[in-house]
Amino acid sequence: MSMIQGATGAWEMVIGLEVHAQITSVSKLFSGASTEFGAEPNSQVSLVDAAMPGMLPVINEVCVYQAVRTGLGIKAEINLVSVFDRKNYFYPDLPAGYQISQFTRPIVGKGELEIDLADGSSRMIGITRLHLEQDAGKSLHDQDPKRSFIDLNRSGVALMEIVSEPDMRTSEEAAAYMRKLRAILRYLGTCDGNMDEGSMRCDANVSMRKPGEPMGTRCEIKNLNSLRFLQQAIEYEARRQVAILEDGGTIDQETRLFDSRKGETRTMRSKEEAHDYRYFPDPDLLPLELDPDWVAALKADLPELPDEKKARFVSEFGITVYDAGILVAEQDRADYFEAVAAGRDAKLAANWVISELFGRLNKAGLDIGDSPVSASALGELVDLIADNTISGRIAKEVFDEMVETGKGAAAIVEAKGLTQITDTGALEAVVDEIIAANPEQAEQFREGKQTVVGWFVGQAMKATQGKANPKAVNEILRKKLG
Ligand code: ADP
Ligand code: MG
Repeated sequence: MSMIQGATGAWEMVIGLEVHAQITSVSKLFSGASTEFGAEPNSQVSLVDAAMPGMLPVINEVCVYQAVRTGLGIKAEINLVSVFDRKNYFYPDLPAGYQISQFTRPIVGKGELEIDLADGSSRMIGITRLHLEQDAGKSLHDQDPKRSFIDLNRSGVALMEIVSEPDMRTSEEAAAYMRKLRAILRYLGTCDGNMDEGSMRCDANVSMRKPGEPMGTRCEIKNLNSLRFLQQAIEYEARRQVAILEDGGTIDQETRLFDSRKGETRTMRSKEEAHDYRYFPDPDLLPLELDPDWVAALKADLPELPDEKKARFVSEFGITVYDAGILVAEQDRADYFEAVAAGRDAKLAANWVISELFGRLNKAGLDIGDSPVSASALGELVDLIADNTISGRIAKEVFDEMVETGKGAAAIVEAKGLTQITDTGALEAVVDEIIAANPEQAEQFREGKQTVVGWFVGQAMKATQGKANPKAVNEILRKKLG
């Protein structure tokens, strides 16, 4: 438990997150306009999205399907009847003067999510609800020195707002929550999770209390679009609140913005300025009723999700929970690993995928989809290690060349003559030579100085350019000197 140490003792953070996730769908929540990212401003705006008089919203079934599948993926109650409300406010990028959202009766109720922490432990975080709503347009202030422009391409795009219980206690837990939620959304294909394109963003609610005390007054930090900013904003905010509380002050409930350049949060609006949204059911839309059989069919059809995959990797492949967690964090990484591990020593495969491949990919800033080494090519390398054709040390060299040139493992081993020497006769000759050249060390060995063994093995590896099988060398040495 990481607490913030203040002058009056330890303080505990209480964090609840509201996540906006853009639904993966080719068209918007209530119109047929495209949702494609990066289009010319105002090129994807239907009359409904521009709020022309007399236009009527028509619900997009794909968005409902995606929201229900997401609800099932976070093990939540699906509400068979939900209601769309108008959330009224004025903003230049909101032509209708209201946003269609869900307030009292959301499509998804209580659920939960398991987060994985750096020390290998896990915790359950409650989810309060998931509701459907429209995104607003975007004001562009940086195109002209005097004027602002409005781009309505995002207007009407379907969002899921996923609200957590105030169950998180550290900024790391908040980041872990976002990470797991993003993985689930990506596995489901219900949101692409790209925080830098704004398709997933989060508001962090933070309050402080002395352990055991009731929850304090919270502040909400809006629109955090990276995990690093999320953690920085929470840390800054927690310290800001502790300083005020320890000074005898009180926290004003307010909405704040995070300035990523300064690493600070600052007031956006206070509670007194908070909107009265005058929610009421949208008269243009009927309550949304779901067929329980349809929901059951979606449930039966869910893909294997990260937590289940992790448990299966541990039991099926005998790898550690920690390694399994790394492998399942992204579906294509998990698929890659499974392809390498199939029919092979899975622990060896996991080690090569995680330590060697991921290490090199991270360094080069590449995704697994851009890996210069395919799963079958890495599998071939693992086979060469497993059947003793090459040593682990040589394998790393071979792998470097595979990454660089895209050549196959066997071809590199063949071309460079890297095959491991396991032939006892050949190795004995090498060992004899080393013993003869180093009588002092040989004597130390006989006197029982076991560490000299390592030195001898090193010499044998050197003499064979790393091709000697270390295990065989070890045995021969013990036979000759023992
Ligand atoms: P609103 O819609 O006004 O933001 P909600 O009741 O929906 O208010 O709460 C929003 C978020 O704030 C939720 O994620 C909830 O877990 C979190 N939250 C509520 N109370 C606190 C608190 N005292 N400290 C930290 N987070 C809180
Ligand atoms: Mg809120």
